[in-house]
Amino acid sequence: MKFRFEYFLVMAVILLYSCGGNENSGKTKNKDNRKNTVEVPNFNSDSAYAYIQKQVDFGPRVPGTEAHDACADYLTITLKRFTDSVYVQKYKARAYNGETLKGKNIIASFNPDNADRIFLCAHWDSRPYADHDENPEFHKTPIDGANDGASGVGVLLEIARQLSTNQPEVGIDIILFDLEDYGPPQDSQQRGEGDWWGLGSQYWSRNTHIPGYFAKYGILLDMVGAKDATFLMEGFSLYYAPGLLKKVWNTAHRIGYSQHFLFEQGGYIEDDHKYINDILKIPTIDIIHLDPNSTNGSFFDHWHTSTDNMDQISRQTLKAVGQTLLTVVFED
Ligand SMILES: [Zn+2]
Repeated sequence: MKFRFEYFLVMAVILLYSCGGNENSGKTKNKDNRKNTVEVPNFNSDSAYAYIQKQVDFGPRVPGTEAHDACADYLTITLKRFTDSVYVQKYKARAYNGETLKGKNIIASFNPDNADRIFLCAHWDSRPYADHDENPEFHKTPIDGANDGASGVGVLLEIARQLSTNQPEVGIDIILFDLEDYGPPQDSQQRGEGDWWGLGSQYWSRNTHIPGYFAKYGILLDMVGAKDATFLMEGFSLYYAPGLLKKVWNTAHRIGYSQHFLFEQGGYIEDDHKYINDILKIPTIDIIHLDPNSTNGSFFDHWHTSTDNMDQISRQTLKAVGQTLLTVVFED
């Protein structure tokens, strides 16, 4: 994904505060009553960690490689253990350099007949270039993407495992997008304009796995595993889905994860959720590690470097994100 400087507008902040707490007071009360009765499962961060390790063990999941194929099979087989409804969406997409990429979006549905639905998503491919590494020798080397890619998928696989035995009232789709991170490298001559990131979510938004697919909202995870991660309120999320964003952040605060979910506005990130909001018009937020003090733009320090590996992954952060998500969906 990439950062959009030109989008810094005050408007999103105005939207957030103008959609404040009172407009649904009756509904809120019902939900508060449910919070006392709903039992939320316990997110297992060891399990999520193991799912991340497993993906990284294939090697960089770069489109067109054996590791990419093997990981797609692994993700499909794993999700099929948790639900009968798994869709593998195969497609081709043109990359920034003219190459044709073969992609696979992998979608697992729970309670598929329920029209009341939400989706949770992350990208599973990893970046072919460590183009932000401080050592230029690595700029053409693919990355492990333990945090950038595998962490969000690890959290979602653990949630899928939980849903296989215990489901909330709402129907849930878990969507693993391919071809998110094949955008032009930092030092490429071919950067130019064009939507070269999020190719998998762009495809899905135009060709949903079920024609006429609808969900009331979506939540994207990206880089949710680093130690002491901070999730700022990302710009497009705040613009398109301020109520949802507040709900998720408030939930995180209520259950004890306020150190990760900061009520502070971050930049505008062209991540998978932007295409879903733009094309499919389903309000979708991005829980993404943004750090104003980062040495690497506004992203976490190891973003698109050779050191985005298992050393960066913290079970504590996985727990904060996974438990927050489980609480949101079970209280929905
Ligand atoms: Zn990336």
